[in-house]
Amino acid sequence: MCCDLKRRFLLLYATQKGQAKAIAEEICQQAGAHGLEADMHCISEMDKYNLETEKDPVVIVISTTGTGDPPDTARKFVKKIQDTALPPDHFAHLQYGLLGLGDSEYMFFCNGGKTVDRRLQELGAQHFYETGLADDCVGLEVVVDPWIDGLWLALKEAFVLQNKKEGMNSSDISSALSAAPVPSHIENELNISSEVQKLKLEDEGVRSSDLTQKLVDIHLVASTRDAEPSLVHSVPPLSQSALNIPALPAEYIEVQFQDTHGENPHLSSLISEGTTFEVPVTKAVQLTREDAIKTALLLELDIAGTVFDYQPGDAFCVICPNNVSEVEELLQILGLSDKGEYFICVKVKQGTKRKGATHPQHIPERSTLKFLLTWCLEIRAVPKKAFLRALVECTSDAGEKRRLQELCSRQGASDYTQFIRDSNVCLLDLLRAFPSCKPSLNLLIEHLPKLQARSYSVSSSNLYQPGRLHFVFNIVEFPACPTRPVARKGVCTGWLAELVAPLLNPNKNTLDTKGISTSTEKISIFSRPNNTFHLPADPSVPFVMVGPGTGISPFIGFLQHRQKLREEHTDWEFGETWLFFGCRHQDRDYLFKQVHYELKCFLENGTLTHLKVCFSRDSTTAEVAPPKYVQDVIRLYAKEIARVLLKEGGYFYVCGDKKHMADGVSDAVVDILSMEMEADKLEAMKILATLREAKRYLQDVWS
Ligand code: FAD
Repeated sequence: MCCDLKRRFLLLYATQKGQAKAIAEEICQQAGAHGLEADMHCISEMDKYNLETEKDPVVIVISTTGTGDPPDTARKFVKKIQDTALPPDHFAHLQYGLLGLGDSEYMFFCNGGKTVDRRLQELGAQHFYETGLADDCVGLEVVVDPWIDGLWLALKEAFVLQNKKEGMNSSDISSALSAAPVPSHIENELNISSEVQKLKLEDEGVRSSDLTQKLVDIHLVASTRDAEPSLVHSVPPLSQSALNIPALPAEYIEVQFQDTHGENPHLSSLISEGTTFEVPVTKAVQLTREDAIKTALLLELDIAGTVFDYQPGDAFCVICPNNVSEVEELLQILGLSDKGEYFICVKVKQGTKRKGATHPQHIPERSTLKFLLTWCLEIRAVPKKAFLRALVECTSDAGEKRRLQELCSRQGASDYTQFIRDSNVCLLDLLRAFPSCKPSLNLLIEHLPKLQARSYSVSSSNLYQPGRLHFVFNIVEFPACPTRPVARKGVCTGWLAELVAPLLNPNKNTLDTKGISTSTEKISIFSRPNNTFHLPADPSVPFVMVGPGTGISPFIGFLQHRQKLREEHTDWEFGETWLFFGCRHQDRDYLFKQVHYELKCFLENGTLTHLKVCFSRDSTTAEVAPPKYVQDVIRLYAKEIARVLLKEGGYFYVCGDKKHMADGVSDAVVDILSMEMEADKLEAMKILATLREAKRYLQDVWS
C-alpha cells in the first residue's frame, strides 16, 4: 500500500541574500532521489504552512543578518513564536532539523538560526536531527554538504518514529523509503572513475585512446611542470584520483531572444525590501589625502522632495550595477556581444526535472540582455560547486574539464577552498582560466545569485541638515594576483567613485562650499533601518562611541543630531559624550579633521565632550609609545568607561569594518569591567552580556 508513497516533509527557508534559499532548493532537489517530497516555502509565507498542526518533519534553513538578527523574511515568524503567552508544549508535536547559516567574522555567529532553534526547543519541539551551523567565513559547504548528506537518514528515522506514533507499521514505511530510486548519498553522486570519464567523453566524439593519452599527458605536465597546484593545475594525489562529483543539476531556465523593442524594468521592480528613491548626488568629498592607503569618500544625496526618512544610526542601501567592461567581456565570452541590447524573455523550462523550480525573483521576465547582466546578477560571486559541476558540461578541452571536475569533487575540496573561495575567483576569472568553457546564458541565470544592493550607514542627521543625506565609504580595491591579472575595485564603491569623479574637484574639497553642484547623477536607494543602533532616548544619559576608520560615519550623524537638540532645547540636560577614533596616519586619513572640520566644531561647542584618537602607522619619538588601536586607548580610560556603563546607565556604541576591532573592543571592555569591579573575567563577560541584552552595548560592524 505504501510502496508508492512519497513521504512529505516541510522545508522552510529564511533568506536574506539568497543563500538559505539556494540550499533549501538543493535539499528540495535531492529529496526526490531519496523518495521524499519537500513541501518548500519561504518562512514568510505563513499562509502556506501551519506549524501548529504540522505532523510531518520540518526542515528549516535560516541565515543571519545585521548584528545577529534573523533575516527580514523571518521577522514575522520569529515575532510569532516569541509570543510569551505560548505554552511550553505549544510545539510538542513538532519534529524538526535546523541548518543555520552565518559568518564567524560577526559577533553573533548564526544567531538567526540559534534564536529560532532555542525558541522551538522552549516550546517543546523535538530535534530529529542535530542542528548544523555553517560558517561563511570558512565556507558554508564545509558544514552544509555533510549536513544534507546526513539529513536523509535522519528523516527516514523521523518518519519511522512518526509512523510508530500514528500506529502505522514501521517496516512498511522503511521499505517504502528504501525502495526509493537512490537510497544513499553515495549513489546520488556520480562516482567518476577515469574509466567512466573515458566512456563519457567517448560519447562526445573523443576517441578513448586519444583521451587516455591526453589525460596521462596532462597529469605528467601537471606533476613535472607544476609541483605546486594552481587554479588550473592539480598535482598528485588529486590529479590521479577517482573523483566523486556532485550530480548534475537539472537545467530549469529557458531564455528566448526577442527582436522586439521596449523598456527595461524600473530598478524599483528588482527590490522587494521596500520603496526605492532615485536621488541626485549633490556633493562628493574625498576625506583622505592622495597618499592614504585607502581612499574614503563622503557623498551627499538630495533627499528633499522624497518621503525617504531616517534616524542617525540607520543604514540605507544603494542599488548598484556591475562594472561595464566586465559585462562587455562576459558578453563577448558568451558569444553574445552583438545581442546585448536584445530583449530576452526568461521562463522556467516546461517539464523541467528540477524540483520546486520557480522563476527567480530577481530576474525580470523581460529585459535586455545587458540589463540582466548589469543590474540583476552578481557576476563577481564566487561560483558554488554546483555551478562548477554545470560548467564541466560546457567545457570542450579534456584537461580543463578534468580540473573543473576536481574543483567540484569531494577529493578536491581543499583545492576549491584555496583556489576558488579564498581567492575570490569569479565567473570571469574562471572563463579566462578555462577558455574552452562556453556556458549558456540560462546557466548563468540559474547559478549566479542576485546582485545585492550595498548597505551604508547614514552619516548625517535630518534635523541638522534637512533634505540632505551623507554617507562615507572606502573605495574597496582588489589588487591583481596570480588568479586575477587585473586589479579591481568593489562593485558598488568602484562604481560610485567613477560616478562622482566629476564632482571631486580638489579645489572645492570642503562641505561648506557654497558652489551649486552641476551634477545630474542620480542613484537609487532604499532604507535599511536599524532597530537598535540609535541615540539613547534620554539625552541626559552619557554615551561612548568607538568608530575607527569609516566606522566614525554614524557617529557624525549622532553628533549632528545632538548639536541640533542642544541648540533647540537649551533647558535640557545632556549627558557627556565620548568618541574614540583611530586611523593609520594623522595627516592622511584622519576623517573629518583634515578636510571637514566637524569634529573640532563639535568639541568646541561642547556637543562632543571627549575625543580620543590614535594612529596605528605613525612613527613616534616618544619614550613611551602611544596606543595604536582604539581598544588600546579605551583601556586608558577604564575608570571613566566603567562609570558611564555601571553607574550612570550609559550606552556604548561600536561601529567599524573589522571583526578584529569589534572583538578587540569587547575584550577591552570585559577587562575594564573585571578590573573596575574586581570581578573575575567570567563575571565581567556576564555583565557585558547583560549590557548587550539591555541594548546598552551596541555594535554595527561590517566586513
Ligand atoms: P564588493 O565588490 O562587494 O567587495 C567587497 C567584499 O567582497 C570584500 O570585502 C571581499 O570580502 C569580497 N571580495 C570580492 N571580490 C574580491 C577579490 N577579488 N579579492 C578579495 N576579496 C573580494 N561600508 C562603508 O564603507 N561605509 C559604511 O558606512 C558602511 N555601512 C554598512 C552598514 C551595513 C549595515 C552593512 C551590512 C555594510 C556596511 N558597509 C559600509 C559595507 C558596504 O555595504 C559594502 O560591503 C562595501 O562598501 C563594499 O562594497 P563593494 O560593492 O564596493 O565591494
